[in-house]
Amino acid sequence: MRQIFVSSSDIRGGRAFLSGPAHHHLVRVLRVQPGEVLRLVDERGRRYRASILNVGPGEAQAELTGEEPAEEEAGFTRLCVCVPKGGIFEEILDGATQLGIDEIVPLVSERTIPRWKGGDVEPKMRRWRSVLVSASQQCNRSRVPQLLAPLPLEGIGEVIGKDPCLWSFERAPVPLHLELARLGTGLERATLVVGPEGGFTDEEAGWGAARGARLVSLGPRILRTPLACFHLVSALSTWRNLRPFSEEA
Ligand code: SAM
Repeated sequence: MRQIFVSSSDIRGGRAFLSGPAHHHLVRVLRVQPGEVLRLVDERGRRYRASILNVGPGEAQAELTGEEPAEEEAGFTRLCVCVPKGGIFEEILDGATQLGIDEIVPLVSERTIPRWKGGDVEPKMRRWRSVLVSASQQCNRSRVPQLLAPLPLEGIGEVIGKDPCLWSFERAPVPLHLELARLGTGLERATLVVGPEGGFTDEEAGWGAARGARLVSLGPRILRTPLACFHLVSALSTWRNLRPFSEEA
């Protein structure tokens, strides 16, 4: 079923009154017609089934026909990734959203090429948020991942000491699967770190390790930044999904 994000204030008296971006998405992207059934999700993650009543030039109305249970949380995953140049970061936002990431922290490390000053980053952040919203709608997520403003690498010093942190580093001697096994079953929250096109310096990786990050290898080949992100996120989610089976055995 197709899904759109709405504001809880659009929902009144058993109906949804959809204007602004929700109306635009309904009309221009989904081209909905009266009678069509959709899922509406509000900012608190409440999910409604709704049938379109009418589609006007500035507003559409839908009748709510039921509420669906909230999406289950499988754990919390934060992805801290050095921003690559061009549109590649958007690919990462899109793919990581589909794979279920909860929070994205854009980083600026020594070899990160894009840099921003003052308000320069605001238009980027708006564009990045819109990518997260459309990816979430497309893959039927109830919650759009949180996006933080870009931070210098040192800005994640605290988080990597708090939640278990898997930091991908091509010269790490320990493979990812071994670190996941070492972390064991209590992996509700996790932070993943991925470097820029030019990689992390040894000093940066050493700085992370000194704060509790676990440096992990993703294998003998060098992966581009997006693929390194997707590999880490998928491996973590596979590990979490395997847990109930190993606990049952
Ligand atoms: N320094 C590298 C080079 O030019 O040889 C490239 C870095 S790679 C394109 C971008 C990031 O992906 C790295 O900083 C690292 O975080 C992650 N990465 C890629 N391949 C990896 C691997 N085999 N093991 C661990 N991390 C990897």
